[in-house]
Amino acid sequence: MTVPAPARVESTPVLVVGGGPAGLAAAAELGLHGVGCVVIEPRVTVSRRRPRAKTTSVRTMEHLRRWGVADALRAAAPLPVAWSQRVTFCESLSGRRITDFDGAFGLTTQRDERFAEAGQQVPQPVVEEVLRGHVRRLPGVELRLGHTVTGLTEQAGGATVTVISEDAASGYEIRARYVLGCDGAGSVVRGQIGARLVGRSDPRPNFNVVFRAPALDTPLGPAVQYWVVGPAVSGLIGRLDLSGTWWAIMPGIEAAYGAAHAAELITGLVGAPVEHEVLASDPWTARMLIADTFGDRRVFLVGESAHLNPPWGGHGFNTCVGDAVNIAWKIAAVENGWAPAGLLSSYEPERRGVIEQTVASAEANLRSLAGDLPRDEAAIQAAKRAEFYSLGLVLGYSYAGSPVVQPRLQPTSGPAAALDGTRYTPTTQPGARLPHAWLPDGSSLYDRLGTGFTLVGPVRDGGAGGAGVAGLVRRARRRQIPLAIVESPPSYPWRTEFLLVRPDQHIAWRAGDPADIDIDVVTGVSAPSARAGLRPRPLSSRCRW
Ligand SMILES: Cc1cc2nc3c(=O)[nH]c(=O)nc-3n(C[C@H](O)[C@H](O)[C@H](O)COP(=O)(O)OP(=O)(O)OC[C@H]3O[C@@H](n4cnc5c(N)ncnc54)[C@H](O)[C@@H]3O)c2cc1C
Repeated sequence: MTVPAPARVESTPVLVVGGGPAGLAAAAELGLHGVGCVVIEPRVTVSRRRPRAKTTSVRTMEHLRRWGVADALRAAAPLPVAWSQRVTFCESLSGRRITDFDGAFGLTTQRDERFAEAGQQVPQPVVEEVLRGHVRRLPGVELRLGHTVTGLTEQAGGATVTVISEDAASGYEIRARYVLGCDGAGSVVRGQIGARLVGRSDPRPNFNVVFRAPALDTPLGPAVQYWVVGPAVSGLIGRLDLSGTWWAIMPGIEAAYGAAHAAELITGLVGAPVEHEVLASDPWTARMLIADTFGDRRVFLVGESAHLNPPWGGHGFNTCVGDAVNIAWKIAAVENGWAPAGLLSSYEPERRGVIEQTVASAEANLRSLAGDLPRDEAAIQAAKRAEFYSLGLVLGYSYAGSPVVQPRLQPTSGPAAALDGTRYTPTTQPGARLPHAWLPDGSSLYDRLGTGFTLVGPVRDGGAGGAGVAGLVRRARRRQIPLAIVESPPSYPWRTEFLLVRPDQHIAWRAGDPADIDIDVVTGVSAPSARAGLRPRPLSSRCRW
């Protein structure tokens, strides 16, 4: 293909390459902070035939709530949370039930003190459609569909990106102060900055199929996933909606075999022949890959351009949203003039550890796929618990040790305790997500936080912190740092602490007196005197990709 010479040159503060979940989340976060961007995305429409991610985690739902779209996503989701919160293991859809996991993936219809939003099962295309609608309404955010980025050149103060439109007749350039490479596994941006994916792939193929079978039902009752541990066929199957569209994943099945034997495989999962029409198939390989660097100067890799997780456990797209929020609020702080560009160098140290933990967890889940399991309740409960109950991983990750988080007062001796992915224990340790609480009027503590920093503490009592609060407000005002002040919830076990909370709801600093809070550290103006941990660690590099 000959790329035509650029006919025009545009400019934008932030150029987002790719409008999948990561790119749309980045645009939503930038828009929340009033920073303009252009999102370049080749797909004009979102296809519902490759649903891919179905698990939207509690944490991603909390971000959607911050953006004001959690309710819109729930309304658009074909399977309401109330319909089912269960994963069922069985011999087939018409066969014996082996065991159930209730309340999987943070699905609950009850209010839970630990989080502001329950999880939601919803096909990825629906998430993308809702986010597309949202970012289109944000002033300063442009979603440019049918356009593709072909190259990138970095220069002082930013980068120039070359773009072609769908008809390939008009090439053009966009200059941006920041570029976010949200362009997925085959990222052009990653290649242009010389970054490489490092890690390994699972040798087994996987075959996904989406089919219509309006007459298909199961006596097993509602479940968001049925794991079929069958004598003939093993895999996962579930409803995409309540009007007869189903998905199935069959590990170990080659694409050609799957395409030729789809009816037989579906019959095996169902346990009986069922009238159906195959709508689409999607072969894929599980990969455990992390880029050797997440950026270069003002260009950052976000989402699957930076890492590929196996989908087991449902963390893939959610991790991408976490990346997007992290880098986008920081760019917004720099663009809005209250943080120096140095803040951005905390993106990789903060996200790399989270990604490594998530990839490791997904890889552990990969070791016990449906075909690897015995048809035995106790064995399945033991093997699969961590996959369905992972709030420790989803909510419990911390940015402790980041250069822009309060340094640990006491250097830790020996290695840090391993994260228990199944158990979430709220903590106000700097770096952790602010513990959630419901307020007496029924609203969420999170709804009270500002879009900039927030000081949560015993502010109404005045007390020892009174002068410190006033001093912090003055220091923030001098530096034009947006700072909201919120009284700690009455139910909070940490009512005596002052917690400085970042725009992403993580605790930047904890103090008995706000006078002790170093606002320069948390905005990246100065490095803390003692940094502990969280430096980019060497990757386990069995192969280079
Ligand atoms: C079978 C399967 C099941 C999964 N299940 C789950 C799950 O339950 N939960 C979960 O969290 N994750 C799941 N995932 C993972 C999830 O689909 C991905 O993690 C997610 O799509 C990654 O988002 P992204 O925005 O980083 O990349 P992508 O979704 O790949 O988006 C990249 C975007 O960039 C665009 N693009 C590409 N090249 C260019 C270019 N040159 N210029 C401009 N734009 C470009 C693409 O069109 C695309 O829209 C699953 C994946 C698979 C394969």
